[in-house]
Amino acid sequence: MQAPVTLLVHGGAGTLTRVDLSAAQEREYRDALGQALRAGQSLLLQGGTALDAAVAAVCVLEDCPLFNAGKGSVFTHEGRNEMDAAVMDGATGQAGAVAGVVAVRNPILAAQAVMQRSGHVFLLGQGAEAFARAQGLALEGPGYFHTEHRWQQLQAALAQNQVMLDHDGQHHQALPGADPLDRKFGTVGAVALDAHGHLAAATSTGGMTNKMFGRVGDSPLIGAGTYACDDTAAVSATGAGEFFIRGVVAHDIAARMAYGRLSLAKATQATMRDKLDATGGRGGVIALDRHGHYKLAFNTEGMYRGVVQGHAQPQVAIYRA
Ligand code: ASP
Repeated sequence: MQAPVTLLVHGGAGTLTRVDLSAAQEREYRDALGQALRAGQSLLLQGGTALDAAVAAVCVLEDCPLFNAGKGSVFTHEGRNEMDAAVMDGATGQAGAVAGVVAVRNPILAAQAVMQRSGHVFLLGQGAEAFARAQGLALEGPGYFHTEHRWQQLQAALAQNQVMLDHDGQHHQALPGADPLDRKFGTVGAVALDAHGHLAAATSTGGMTNKMFGRVGDSPLIGAGTYACDDTAAVSATGAGEFFIRGVVAHDIAARMAYGRLSLAKATQATMRDKLDATGGRGGVIALDRHGHYKLAFNTEGMYRGVVQGHAQPQVAIYRA
């Protein structure tokens, strides 16, 4: 029997506790996650592809300044927004990615266009921008991506000479000496299962506050922060990208399913344990198989996350249960 259409989203993981967010802020995050889930769900219920649904959900989160992707991306050391994004289609094994883009309004659409129309998998910087422009994608000036909240995060990171992960604004004040890897990661991502039994994954990020010019994280790297294969799983990650790159985390989950015949749940658990907990890497993943089994796993205090299946209402959560 065909599993119900399913969509999972994340908006970053980290040291998220109830004291960090006011009730009003929590509502804003929940509303945005719910909106992203509904955007993808409605496409899936109309027979749309997993790829289009995952991209649609990520677009909603890119457009929302609360998350570190698209509008609201964090700043590099030089005070610029350099964004990375990737998509992978589990049905075809096709993938597309961009890194270091500064003007593409929705980097995830550029990643999808790279996959579908460039003949390549990964375009970087000015080449990615030129391709996005030629594809007629919306471009924006730096003012569009600038948010005061992220700018203050950069000032705080510069003052401490630290590279910081996202959702640090409020928490940074509370934990001035804390290890940056112990904070919050604001990347966004989605994985989807469509009515045809196909999977897809999409991930988009501004990276890390005060990151070096040219630094690329795990999000646009196929197999690290983003991966999808119908035979195993669709995975999107968030967290300290360097650990996810070294652990090839998204593909590691799929590989444990393919070679070790582990279930999605067991594979996710094993990867989290061996590739993140064991190395000190903090963050989380959303993972989904074609039977509609899913995991929203993280080793941080919280992860902005949500799921919707079939015609049900979206479920969203932030903190550990
Ligand atoms: N994984 C992202 C990166 O390292 C950061 C995040 O998840 O917020 O670029």
